[in-house]
Amino acid sequence: SNFIVGLTGGIGSGKTQVSDRFAQLGITVVDTDILAREVVEPGQPAFEAIVERYGDAILQADGKLDRTALRQRVFADEGERQWLNQQTHPRIRQRMLAQCQAAPSSYVVLVVPLLVEGGLDKLVHRVLVVDVPESVQIARTSARDGNDPELVESILKRQASREQRLSAADDIIDNSGDLAQLDGEVQRLHQSYLSMAEKQHV
Ligand code: ATP
Repeated sequence: SNFIVGLTGGIGSGKTQVSDRFAQLGITVVDTDILAREVVEPGQPAFEAIVERYGDAILQADGKLDRTALRQRVFADEGERQWLNQQTHPRIRQRMLAQCQAAPSSYVVLVVPLLVEGGLDKLVHRVLVVDVPESVQIARTSARDGNDPELVESILKRQASREQRLSAADDIIDNSGDLAQLDGEVQRLHQSYLSMAEKQHV
């Protein structure tokens, strides 16, 4: 399919709940978090480049990339971060487009947690934002992961603000209600995306 809906939202906003519902309606879901892990699997060109640059210290005992060590390695160094992004981003983007094009459904939902931050909104036809108040994000995420609300809050602060995200949105799902309400919201959007995708083909 050529019609791509970019699905985004802050931590714990409900992206997985929403994308699961699109999948249940028969829509192909492409998850950029998965693609980001695939491009650094052993044997991949980005993996080889990373090991050449940082040495075996960046590997786990099982020979796979130690992603925590890598994150720490580039965290405080803008130049290294840019180098790493140059290795990974084009390859993630390539896989992303290939999977979207190969999808059999009338449109595709592309899940990109940092869509607004990463400028990927230019690659999609429609930006769908899952929106909840920050207090709900914090409560649901810490309940799900069993961790400290302050940790969630610190992650939240490093992401785009609710306002930034909403201003980039073409469509908004309000996920502050219960999961039954979410079903209705997804069905409503599904109908509208079906007709948008159809018009695009004419
Ligand atoms: P992350 O950014 O961490 O990947 P996410 O955006 O994918 O998170 P989910 O995992 O879908 O968010 O939702 C966060 C938590 O809140 C989960 O435990 C989920 O089951 C719960 N949740 C999501 N939406 C609702 C809702 N409408 N009512 C109650 N619980 C919800």
